[in-house]
Amino acid sequence: MALPELLVPAGDPAKLRTALDYGADAVYLGTDRFGLRALAGNFTLPQLAEARALTRQRGKRLYLTLNAYLRPDDLAPLGDLLQELRPLDLDAYIVSDPGVLSLVRRIDPQRPIHLSTQANTTNAAAAAFWRDAGVSRINLARELNLAEIAEIGRIAGMELEIFVHGAMCVAWSGRCLLSAALTGRSANKGACAHPCRWGYALMEETRPGEYFPIEEDGRGTYILNSRDLCLIEHLPELIRAGATSLKVEGRMKSLYYVAAVTRVYRAAIDRYLENPRGWRCDPEWLEELDKVSHRPYDTGFLFAGADARVHPGDSKYRRTCDFLGVVLESHPEGSALVEGRGRFFPGEELEIIGPAMRQARFSVGELLSPEGIPLPAAQPNAKIMMNLPDGARPGDLLRRCRREM
Ligand code: SF4
Repeated sequence: MALPELLVPAGDPAKLRTALDYGADAVYLGTDRFGLRALAGNFTLPQLAEARALTRQRGKRLYLTLNAYLRPDDLAPLGDLLQELRPLDLDAYIVSDPGVLSLVRRIDPQRPIHLSTQANTTNAAAAAFWRDAGVSRINLARELNLAEIAEIGRIAGMELEIFVHGAMCVAWSGRCLLSAALTGRSANKGACAHPCRWGYALMEETRPGEYFPIEEDGRGTYILNSRDLCLIEHLPELIRAGATSLKVEGRMKSLYYVAAVTRVYRAAIDRYLENPRGWRCDPEWLEELDKVSHRPYDTGFLFAGADARVHPGDSKYRRTCDFLGVVLESHPEGSALVEGRGRFFPGEELEIIGPAMRQARFSVGELLSPEGIPLPAAQPNAKIMMNLPDGARPGDLLRRCRREM
């Protein structure tokens, strides 16, 4: 059995380190151009070289997204970029546009090529077409169900990558003109403003400014507002269907999101590998996934007969935990240097989380500046000295959680 890899987004260098610390087998990231996440931090070429060195040192894989659809003027700059990238010897490029595929084949013929979900591959004949064109792995369209994934896995004879967690679109896996039409920010260039999650109203043309809400309850009906994907309860079926890579969506998500989601899927995959037949979804994993910002979870299209469902309640993300800080240093006597990401106060009950599902609750004691001056509160971006529970390590994260109302 090919081991499934856990593939995690790394929107910037700090998230890359977090993804590796919290259990990713492989990461995907983009440069400033051609990577379809214009608003993620992204990597400059020197940062990419450092990322390559770090992933190699940790024995992990690094895939670079070049999955934009190009205009004629983009071809020459992409050719130049591919020349500059060659010495980095990255593990694969993720592409969608056949033009990009052909440029990579010409300029860097040995480089493995993965096909992005943007290419919307939905059947074995299409997979075979891409395989014959030089693609070694396909990220299948999120719109396929389990039986269809298994059929493609059986016939295609290539690596299959499946999204298991994260946001979904109400268009074919990101091929959507809504944002470009309403805001000028094109989803197909990585700049989506997510207008599918806005509230909409109806206006009769002779009554300008009088809005008739399209609503079923007081919070409106968000007719284009999709749920979020969460397939953790179905990892065994996906692996048996031939998934060789289990992918988490979200290069624009926070560092906390990357850590919290990665460690849960790491635990679930490791548990499966230890005992495939005895695998059960641990309720703690679901609880932990509820502690990241998300819309209601759903299994998307995985099961035949499931409808494509929008989320009718409201368009807000659920957030029961606030991300408050990153541990930079921990000292043997229990004190630690923390970088604040949110405000917190002495006496508050917080949680600390780390890789391998390590976590503990604790009460915040005295807060000091690095120079030893007492502080009334920890502030975002400030460095704070404080005591943490035993076992706290650099890279651990602090959060405040509350019960959902
Ligand atoms: S507007 Fe919504 S459906 Fe369209 S690309 Fe953006 S997130 Fe996807």
